[in-house]
Amino acid sequence: MALARGYAATDASKPLQPFTFERREPREDDVVISIKYSGICHSDIHQARNEWGNSMFPMVPGHEIAGIVTAVGDNVTKFKVGDRVGVGCFVDSCTTCASRDLDLEHYMPGLVVTYNGMEADGKTPAQGGYSDHIVVKEGYVLSIPEHLPFEATAPLLCAGITLYSPLRKWGAGPGKKVAIVGMGGLGHMGVKLGHAMGAEVTVLSQSLSKKEDGLKLGADHYYATSDAETFKTLAGTFDLILCTVSAEIDWNAYLGLLKVDGTLVLLGVPEKPVPVHAFSLIPGRRSIAGSMIGSIKETQEMLDFCGEHNIVSDIELIRMDQVNEAYERVIKSDVRYRFVIDMATL
Ligand code: NAP
Ligand code: ZN
Repeated sequence: MALARGYAATDASKPLQPFTFERREPREDDVVISIKYSGICHSDIHQARNEWGNSMFPMVPGHEIAGIVTAVGDNVTKFKVGDRVGVGCFVDSCTTCASRDLDLEHYMPGLVVTYNGMEADGKTPAQGGYSDHIVVKEGYVLSIPEHLPFEATAPLLCAGITLYSPLRKWGAGPGKKVAIVGMGGLGHMGVKLGHAMGAEVTVLSQSLSKKEDGLKLGADHYYATSDAETFKTLAGTFDLILCTVSAEIDWNAYLGLLKVDGTLVLLGVPEKPVPVHAFSLIPGRRSIAGSMIGSIKETQEMLDFCGEHNIVSDIELIRMDQVNEAYERVIKSDVRYRFVIDMATL
């Protein structure tokens, strides 16, 4: 066992604070990673505050990890000491069922999440990226393109793949009209990725305060959802709407923006059930769907795509001791567009 240092939530109502815990000794198929940067995802906040009702404390959050390999087990072939690597939302999965071959392992019950769950042994609490190092099985470690600014790649490991996967699945590309609801950590990646795939991208934000940024990031259009006219102007417009909002919104109004056969995909996790009227779906043969991160194979594909198109996250780099303040700012939608913790400040 090696001692690790990090920041943890000790219960749902307390700020995160310094915390020391044990990481396993590397096994033959493990990679040891010195964590350099750790992104702050809104899911970290939901879980640190037990907003999903399943939190395990003490909890070291963080599933947008960028670091450098410091050691590898004897059977590791893909990585060597000094490599730039990433770790996302899961660190192991069921390997016995066919889903692994279908690259749908992240939807299977055997998923081992990066934190707020047990490691594959079923008894060691998994702890995440707000820490100095992590030990991860080779098959769950990603390669980060060398030429991208390292600190700004961390958010690709969750925010990036969470938008890339549904954009690909629902065929975003030339001739497709895609709307991104909410231009936060996830949403701003959706704008960049959708634009790079060749789709016509529209941002639907609460106000026009970030319009200039949205257009610079690659959006073709930008509308305020606080303006009722938006829903009239854009009725029946989109092939695909990706919703990153975790608050209650007027779902039926958003479904009205879809074309025939269009799909609204939920990515954000609102607290309450989503009330949808059948007539919001039936007349346009519309669908409502959900999507969660992406497989390891697709995550590597996304990182390579970002390498080719020079896509990274727009970040605010912070010190570890600013994490609680950063949480408050994320909740107020006051972040442009992802906080990343410089782990050298731990
Ligand atoms: P974020 O940075 O806080 O962005 C959310 C955006 O939603 C805000 O920037 C804001 O955009 C909009 N918003 C906030 N409050 C709103 C309200 N009351 N009404 C309407 N819009 C509102 O959060 P994030 O890290 O992108 O995560 C978003 C959600 O996705 C969270 O629930 C998170 O847990 C979830 N998530 C899901 C997955 C998945 O695999 N499905 C993965 C990661 C995260 P504007 O200011 O532009 O309106
Ligand atoms: Zn996340």
